[in-house]
Amino acid sequence: MYVIEQRDEQLVNSKAGITYELGFDRAPQHLVSVRMRVDNVAAPELAFVMPSWSPGSYKIRDYAGWQGNVRCYSVNAAGRTELSYRWRDKASLVVSTQGVATVEVEYLIYAHERTVRTSHVNRFHAFLMLTSVCMYVEGRTQETHHVLLKHDQLKWPSTSTALSPVSAPTSRGILLGALNYDILADSPIEIGDHRVRTFTAAGALHEVAVATNYDVDIDWLADRVKRIVEVETELFGGAPYDRYVFIIQAYPGAGGGLEHARSSVNAVDPSALLDKTKAIGLLSLLCHEYFHLWNVKRIRPVELGPFDYTRETYTPMLWLAEGLTSYYDNLFAYRCGFATEKEYVDSISRDDIARLAQVQGRFAMSTRDSSYLAWLKLYLQSPDGSNRFPSYYLKGGIIIMLLDIYIIDHTDGKYSMDDALRMMWKRYQDDPSRGMTEDECIAIIEQATRVQVRERLMSWLDGKDELPYDEILKAVGYRVSAAPKKAAAGTFGEAVPSASVPEAPFIGWSLADVGGKVVVRAVDDGSPAQLAGIGIDDELVAIEGIRILNPAQADHVLGGRVGKAVQLTGHCDGRIYTTTIEARERMMPGLVEIDAPSERQRQMRSRWLQRRL
Ligand SMILES: [Zn+2]
Repeated sequence: MYVIEQRDEQLVNSKAGITYELGFDRAPQHLVSVRMRVDNVAAPELAFVMPSWSPGSYKIRDYAGWQGNVRCYSVNAAGRTELSYRWRDKASLVVSTQGVATVEVEYLIYAHERTVRTSHVNRFHAFLMLTSVCMYVEGRTQETHHVLLKHDQLKWPSTSTALSPVSAPTSRGILLGALNYDILADSPIEIGDHRVRTFTAAGALHEVAVATNYDVDIDWLADRVKRIVEVETELFGGAPYDRYVFIIQAYPGAGGGLEHARSSVNAVDPSALLDKTKAIGLLSLLCHEYFHLWNVKRIRPVELGPFDYTRETYTPMLWLAEGLTSYYDNLFAYRCGFATEKEYVDSISRDDIARLAQVQGRFAMSTRDSSYLAWLKLYLQSPDGSNRFPSYYLKGGIIIMLLDIYIIDHTDGKYSMDDALRMMWKRYQDDPSRGMTEDECIAIIEQATRVQVRERLMSWLDGKDELPYDEILKAVGYRVSAAPKKAAAGTFGEAVPSASVPEAPFIGWSLADVGGKVVVRAVDDGSPAQLAGIGIDDELVAIEGIRILNPAQADHVLGGRVGKAVQLTGHCDGRIYTTTIEARERMMPGLVEIDAPSERQRQMRSRWLQRRL
């Protein structure tokens, strides 16, 4: 049985046979000490396993690599006696219990990787992603687990997590609980001196926890988060939880988010919070991760829960999990009123259609295969990845947008993807233990909207051709047109690296300044850079005899010579070479309004872009 629902009241004064005591005496060295106590032991052997990955982030991270100083003990009235153990594989150890009822395992975790899916501990705070801290006991994952946080509560007064309080904090620590290991693994913890705001919406308590060294307007932010909750819960008819925690981390260079059933972790560069006119990226990220509490955590592909934490889980359906969520994140930001209609349509042009047009890999792999191979493609991307596959976030999101417009068009505005989502939600509520197959998902879309979409949708998801933009967008009075334009990179969604978008002119490379050298980081298939024989990691030395000192200068020099063959001097593997290159004008496709849209086209557009609240 797969259970991810938990209400705080269920854990009050609960008992647990498995308890983790987490100590932070060595936080300055980025170490967490773990003492894991297992009671009610009956078997002669007990297997302890450290997960290799975190659900929602499809990469093998081998968290056991950060673990050390493991010791095992038997515990009884006479005290603690050390037990021997053996490693069964890279992440699991087996203890001979020697007939005792209580076994303890102690170890250290080195926690110094700052992402939303790894743990990060220092003298000022602890962010714990429990998949990277807590081993599970084979065969006992379905029972209640407790976590005792033993930090200095004066120094670190705030604790933000979806784990439920078991009892009032004492000088011994803060005791939290989860109904099973899956819930524990899905409940990260932020501890420190961060600020917290709470509000009630949709009948549930919400916490906004902002961990940053910067002077952020947390009240402004909490107001917007409340708006997001109101707009998204309205779609689904309420909040399926008693309490939800938004953990927001702002530190230089941060990006990305991770969804959980009753919380989300959202990391942004402080610039996104200090200048409110630039906050749309963060607000969209918050819309995205919060929406996942429905789509992915509950409405989900059949492969995504219950999880095997030791190995990869394969699904072709990340077009639903992430593509649909990517479409809805900006749409919700627009419905919340954070963007005007023009800003929203511009973002589709710039961050979706123009970005996908840069990705030659859209002709090399289908969206479904890109999903299936996410472990090795999106999450372990080769430097030429942009030529090899399209992101299921990016192309998946565009496909869902086209599907939404197709449905609106074919029902005269009566139905949309909102209706499909509501029916998927009902299907989940009818049987939360089981995810959806792709067949079932498409059947629900058809049933909810009364439109036959299977053949068309599957051809988009399995196809490697250009999507039929104009045929579909015509219904809402738009077409895609390429115009000479400067590009800008978008950072919506989880900001997993995808295509790089260089500035005009079009050369088809991505350049970086590496210690004063201009180095090629990516080369697009079929581009002027590829035709000139330039490779990844080549150094750009000179153009037409002019020494190139930074990437902007290269663009500038070539921008003045569009359509002309120019001499380029490069460096590869210790040798200098020369070649000729011919820059092209950069054509950026985007949405443009068709001439004189009809009344129906205007109506369908209004329907597509209608705000519900
Ligand atoms: Zn996502």
